[in-house]
Amino acid sequence: MSTKSFRVAICGGGIGGLCLAVALSKHTHIQVDLYEGAERFKEVGAGVMIWSRTWRILELLGLAPHFAKVADTQPDPAVAPGFEYRRSDRQEGFEWKLVAMPYGCIRFHRAHFLDAFAERLPTGIAHFRKRLASYEKQDSGEIALTFVDGTSAMCDLLVGCDGIKSVVRAQMLRVKAKEEAQPGLLDLIEPKWTGTIAYRGLIPSTNLPRIDGARHRTLASPMMYCGQNKHLVAYSISQGNIVNFVAFASDLNKKNTAYGAEWVTDCSKDEVLECFGGWEREREEKPTKWGIHHLEELPFFVTDRVVLLGDAAHGMSPHLGAGAGQAIEDAYILAHVLGAAAADRFDAALEAYQQTRLPVANHVLRSSYESGNMYEFNSPFGDEYSALGPAIQHQWDFLTESTPEGEAEKAMGILRSLERERINQNRARL
Ligand SMILES: Cc1cc2nc3c(=O)[nH]c(=O)nc-3n(C[C@H](O)[C@H](O)[C@H](O)COP(=O)(O)OP(=O)(O)OC[C@H]3O[C@@H](n4cnc5c(N)ncnc54)[C@H](O)[C@@H]3O)c2cc1C
Repeated sequence: MSTKSFRVAICGGGIGGLCLAVALSKHTHIQVDLYEGAERFKEVGAGVMIWSRTWRILELLGLAPHFAKVADTQPDPAVAPGFEYRRSDRQEGFEWKLVAMPYGCIRFHRAHFLDAFAERLPTGIAHFRKRLASYEKQDSGEIALTFVDGTSAMCDLLVGCDGIKSVVRAQMLRVKAKEEAQPGLLDLIEPKWTGTIAYRGLIPSTNLPRIDGARHRTLASPMMYCGQNKHLVAYSISQGNIVNFVAFASDLNKKNTAYGAEWVTDCSKDEVLECFGGWEREREEKPTKWGIHHLEELPFFVTDRVVLLGDAAHGMSPHLGAGAGQAIEDAYILAHVLGAAAADRFDAALEAYQQTRLPVANHVLRSSYESGNMYEFNSPFGDEYSALGPAIQHQWDFLTESTPEGEAEKAMGILRSLERERINQNRARL
């Protein structure tokens, strides 16, 4: 391992940026600075779920005990429900599929989830109210960062963790489009509306009705209430005291059209009730309304000394509950290869990160959108439950097709092979 130091600037302190900062700060030869545009780390009041794969990464990073304290229930390797699927666009709903897996669906209050990372961040790394405006490569190879407040900073490597509307991605694509005369890359800058809106909110579990004398279904298992063009996800967080719900309504004809409004707005409870009129009555409360956007798959996550991570790289629709998990996996792999790289060799580490993460993250992005269509009976399987059920299950194969340790080893193999190549090229030149 090198004793030379290099400076990594992380732009954005959401789940992805914070996880990367915590993971990188363990490598003493790397200077880490995290620049967050807001005045503090914050997440909107809602739930977030992760799966066994992400839990394993938290274990590998030594963070699992901190997250276990704020999970809805203690994470447990036993097979447990991922989701119970019901047909609900009618007065009398019925269950038609149960997806179960080791650990089931591990749930958190978002604010608690983000705090569990933030509390592990060494002091001096985070810089608040630092909204990146642009970056510029210097002749020295360094990157100069310019912030909206007129201040600047230098780094050797910039990681754009600035979310789905990433300014880092926008500049990266503009530069590459110009340098390589590929104007098509400019079409990848703006996120696309999926044609879906989501109503999102939290319900105190004491406000939930008992059903046939039993406690509300959402307190027993994460629920996926499905109907034509609509579905509703609900699960408990905060040790069962709160139920998080997200109610989706889609119009496939509006996919890729302009959303034409702020992405997140307040809305009335009546608007949700009207949208879900005629459904079995299991839900309520004060919601916000979201335009669900995603990215088109990017052909690269790295150019030169600039890297994309999390939603900046692969902002996806939320139907596999995987965007945060994918951001955490990006952070784990990037920290792993950077931790092994010397100051003059991190280009190979970035290539190893890209080769490892890009195909998987883009696959999950694609699958996530497909899953939304499946839940709303808009996939080629329609509502043929016998075929649709296994197809839905199959969408989660990415969780077990490889392991995080295996992916880290794969990235290290790529890194080593790139380094051997370079040594051989240098020898050939002598
Ligand atoms: C309705 C819904 C439900 C979801 N549910 C789940 C779920 O259950 N499980 C799951 O895994 N995923 C879920 N996701 C996806 C998940 O929320 C995201 O994938 C994840 O939060 C992305 O994290 P991030 O750090 O990449 O980006 P963000 O969370 O967007 O963080 C970006 C950060 O960068 C900062 N920033 C932005 N621009 C700048 C700038 N120019 N300079 C400096 N800072 C900047 C922002 O202030 C913010 O702090 C859901 C998404 C939605 C919409």
